[in-house]
Formats: sequence, C-alpha cells, structure tokens
Amino acid sequence: MGRVYNFSAGPAVLPEEVLKEAAAEMLDYQGSGMSVMEMSHRSKVYDDIIKTAEADLRELMGIPENYEVLFLQGGAWTQFSAIPMNLMKNGVADYIVTGQWAKKAWQEAQKYGKAVKVASSEDETFSYIPDCSDLPIDDDADYVYICENNTIYGTKFWNLPNTKGKDLVADVSSCFLSEPVDVNKYAVIYGGVQKNIGPAGVTIVIIRKDLIRDDLAEYVPTMLKYKTQADAGSLFNTPPCYGIYICGKVFKWLKANGGLAAMKTRNEEKAKILYDFLDQSDMFKGTVRKEDRSLMNVPFITGNDELDAKFVAESKAAGLENLKGHRSVGGMRASIYNAMPKAGVEKLVEFMTEFEKANK
Ligand SMILES: *Cc1c(COP(=O)(O)O)cnc(C)c1O
Repeated sequence: MGRVYNFSAGPAVLPEEVLKEAAAEMLDYQGSGMSVMEMSHRSKVYDDIIKTAEADLRELMGIPENYEVLFLQGGAWTQFSAIPMNLMKNGVADYIVTGQWAKKAWQEAQKYGKAVKVASSEDETFSYIPDCSDLPIDDDADYVYICENNTIYGTKFWNLPNTKGKDLVADVSSCFLSEPVDVNKYAVIYGGVQKNIGPAGVTIVIIRKDLIRDDLAEYVPTMLKYKTQADAGSLFNTPPCYGIYICGKVFKWLKANGGLAAMKTRNEEKAKILYDFLDQSDMFKGTVRKEDRSLMNVPFITGNDELDAKFVAESKAAGLENLKGHRSVGGMRASIYNAMPKAGVEKLVEFMTEFEKANK
C-alpha cells in the first residue's frame, strides 16, 4: 500500500519531502559515515544541526534576541509542571480553561501554587472561546495561561486575552508554525512538536530571557529549570537528537515554501474547503462556534453514532486515515496540519459528498 492521507491529531503527517530527505541520509549523514541517530550530541556535525535548527526557527517566527529557544523532552505535559515551578514568584497564576489540555495544565499548576480558573467554556463542551476582554485577572498573578489551539475541540483563540499587563503563557502544540506570530505578545510560547512540526519526543519552549531565574524552590528538578537548559544551549544532557534534526528539516521546508505567511494562506484555503462543505451539508455538522473555528483541527458529527462508525470505517478503506473523533466529543475529527496537502482535504470532501448521497 502507498501513503494514505493521514488526518491524525498527533503524532501526525509530516512533509513527504522531509521524510524522503531523511531516508536518503539515514545511513550516511552528509559524509559523516553515520546516521544522525548514531552521532554524539557533542560532535561538530550535531552542533551544526541544532544551531541551524534554532536559527531557522528564529527566522521563521521572527523570535527577538531577548527570547531563548529551548529544545526539550517530556512533551507538553512536562511543561504543565515546569511553567508554574519556574514562573510563579508570587505563587499565583490565572488559567483560561478552553479544553482538556488547558484543564490538565491548570490542575497540575495547583500543586505549586494558587492556580485560578478565570474563564472556562466547559459549560458547552468547550465548543467556543470565552470572552477574554475583561477577565478578573489577579493583581498578583505571575502569568495568564492559555491553550491557543484546542486540539480535541477544534477551537482557536483568534484574539489573545486581555491579560491586563500580565505575562501570557501559551501552549501552541497544535498550531505551532501554522501562521505568523508576534512573539513579543507572549512571555512563553511552547508546544510538543508531534502535532504540526516533527516527530514525538521534542518540546520547543520559547521564553523571554528575564523569566529565566535561578532562585527557584529547592525541590525543582535540575532538568526542569529553564536556567539549566538555557545555560547549556539545550545540550545539558542528551537531547532528542534525531527529532531535533527532523524539526530542522521541517523548518527548511517551511522556509522553502514561503514561510509562515504562505502557510497561513494555505491553511485558510484548506480549512475553507472543509468548513464550506460542513456548512451546506444536511448530514455533517461542525461542532464549534463559527468565529472560534481552528484551521488545524476540524471536529464534525452526523448526530448518529452508527453512521459515524460507518463513516470512519469506510473512509479508512478509501485511504483517509485517523478520522475518528476524540472520545470526549465523539463523531469525527480531521486534523489538517501544515503538511496535509490540499488534495487530501479535497479528497476528504469528495468522500463526504459521496457518503452523504449513499446514506440519505
Ligand atoms: C497533544 C497536546 C498536549 C499533550 O502533549 P504531550 O506532548 O503528549 O504531553 C498538550 N497540549 C496540546 C494543545 C496538545 O495538542
């Protein structure tokens, strides 16, 4: 069987060009006589790989000099702890809970201080983004936390919250590099790369340098101090070497394809094809308030569990994989990250059109 259109939420589709390049370099990376998997992270060859990856990411996102870029392990989950441990000075942080990931982060932060839920959309199964223009932000809050794109529910913050001058921390796991970003608006931008950038195992943390401190609680693990990682250029211990190498290739691919502005245009085109279909369909319905729709994760339902199951089975047989929705929403979800070609979305809509006709 050839390659399928893979709509997985993560780990997810990667650009075919990147996979082919990696395959070609598997046995002998650029004359080094070894695979990147086999080389020392202290070697000159590897130093070039990680430094180039960082430089390309800085260029793509326009990351200012006063921000540190860290390539870490442990997934977004580890950051749910690292963020409060490193950033709580007053011991207070405000969380906007727009989905399971924000909720987990909020719950984890409660172990380290007073984590306040200042807004939530749980009353309607996280199907919208609450009004965040005038929230009761605590005077002594060390930061305001959001999950910018809600992978499970398919919502996105199209306006950042009014933090009333407090530092903004954003989990961007599922919208990383999907559009241009003004890094200056954030104190910390972070995410696992396995949604929209690279292979599972790498977490990127972009953090304003003045937030990197050494006066942390005694119990904070050495590995979870941003200072440890920043001082060592992400090479304190063995980093996820191969994963970083693939991320670097994806950064090159993004640059060769017009950068983040071009990516946004492509992503808008792809999402429009799917949302336009959903909006006119009698069978399929999007589950999210229109103005809050994500460009990356598109959940939809028929309202009939049997029909949903039939759709998932038949779409898989047609080469459209991983369309089953998250268990907390049900139905289907199409994740259409940067590397999903427009042809994949067109094929999905074609399949949905046929399915609707055949199952009236
Ligand atoms: C997948 C996901 C997570 C969890 O990521 P891990 O790397 O598995 O810890 C957290 N936040 C968001 C937005 C996600 O999509």
